[in-house]
Amino acid sequence: MGPAVTRAWRIRPEKDTFLGENPFESMMARFDEAAQHLNLEASLRKVLRHPEKQIIIAVPVLRDNGEVEVFTGYRVLYNTARGPAKGGIRFDLQVTLDEVKALAAWMTWKCAVVNLPFGGSKGGVVCDPASMSMGELERLTRRYTSGIIETLGPDSDVPAPDVNTNERMMAWIMDTYSMHKRHTVTAVVTGKPIAMGGSLGRREATGRGCMIVTREALKQLGMPVPGTRVVIQGFGNVGSTSAEAMAEQGMKIMAVSDKEGGIYDPRGLDVKDVIRHVREHRVLAAYANAEHISNADLLTLETDVLLPAALENVITEENASKIRARIICEGANGPTTADADPILQDAGILVIPDILANAGGVTVSYFEWVQDRGGFFWDLETVNSRLERIMVSSYQEVAAMARRADVSMRIAAYMVSIDRVAAVHRLRGMYA
Ligand code: NAD
Repeated sequence: MGPAVTRAWRIRPEKDTFLGENPFESMMARFDEAAQHLNLEASLRKVLRHPEKQIIIAVPVLRDNGEVEVFTGYRVLYNTARGPAKGGIRFDLQVTLDEVKALAAWMTWKCAVVNLPFGGSKGGVVCDPASMSMGELERLTRRYTSGIIETLGPDSDVPAPDVNTNERMMAWIMDTYSMHKRHTVTAVVTGKPIAMGGSLGRREATGRGCMIVTREALKQLGMPVPGTRVVIQGFGNVGSTSAEAMAEQGMKIMAVSDKEGGIYDPRGLDVKDVIRHVREHRVLAAYANAEHISNADLLTLETDVLLPAALENVITEENASKIRARIICEGANGPTTADADPILQDAGILVIPDILANAGGVTVSYFEWVQDRGGFFWDLETVNSRLERIMVSSYQEVAAMARRADVSMRIAAYMVSIDRVAAVHRLRGMYA
């Protein structure tokens, strides 16, 4: 018998199915609708409804106290027809195979909607990183990397950060992979520190992308950009960089929130001051220069733009009818449930769907991969102007599809993506 457990390491028993709103089914409901509008042939519909590869691994990790714990890790390659799979890795107790599958499919559509030469993948380890030391996290990251090493590679599958993973872990992945290959391979992962092959502008890219598509939506609706009222749920990477980029355009950030609640000032928050506060205190709770409100109330504030940038499934059948925004820009992945879609559409709310709205991040990840492979690095202006061009043209393509097919922007985004993935499948032919 081993020694008794001395420190609480939170571990969840293996759970392969999602217990709440199943994100894979929710995503597939939209896929089916878009496929129907495209008259997609039955054979491709079948192929695109299935992930290409699902890997489940045991990840033994030596704890600091000398014991060994075994975690469950997943990597799903959803589709690689258009190029290497691309998708983040999350460390979280809520990770399930269904969630990873849904996120891998999302990555496939997201890369296709902005026309990147990538397929889609996602990975995760069921763990609670907050209860682990840096040494334990490093061993977990390296062992997980070695467990999926056959599928990894700049030409096959390229991870990136996601929930609870960051550039530190990307550096460990790059190092582990390079040690096995016996030479340095920077392009195996994106979201790396700048000093080791990361790209300028990557950190701000998702928020910058949200700003660009919101500006396009405002133009489409004939609304002026300066003075546009914006409410943001979540003030992490996406929420804070969106707020910064939007404030730079003269938009008025009225409210932002984090896990514990929100702050509100109808005259507009001083975004730089709020960012400074969060850097010092981590949370918004003690922020003094604004009114405090709950996350539920924040979602239903009267505003021009609502930007959910925190979690999945926050706009639901229950609260969708209470939303008083003209535009919803989905910074988070999957913030709106499939049931809420028709309610928002009937209310005339323009929803910029996640796969388009938050694609700025993967676009600059693509730039990072290109720069690593070329061994030639771009200045920030080049990164931002290329990002701008891709986001604007992608928005226009989706808006044109929405008009042509008389569908929502969400279904149009799926149609543009599925059409691109299907076109490559047809050209390549079926090896069946
Ligand atoms: P993050 O961890 O940096 O920030 C998340 C924020 O949400 C934090 O402020 C947190 O306090 C807040 N939050 C958590 N639970 C909440 C709750 N119940 N109510 C309100 N706020 C809550 O994460 P991030 O990188 O900003 O990602 C946010 C979302 O955007 C995720 O869905 C992620 O998948 C998606 N996304 C991120 C990127 C990227 O480049 N970071 C790219 C595409 C999509």
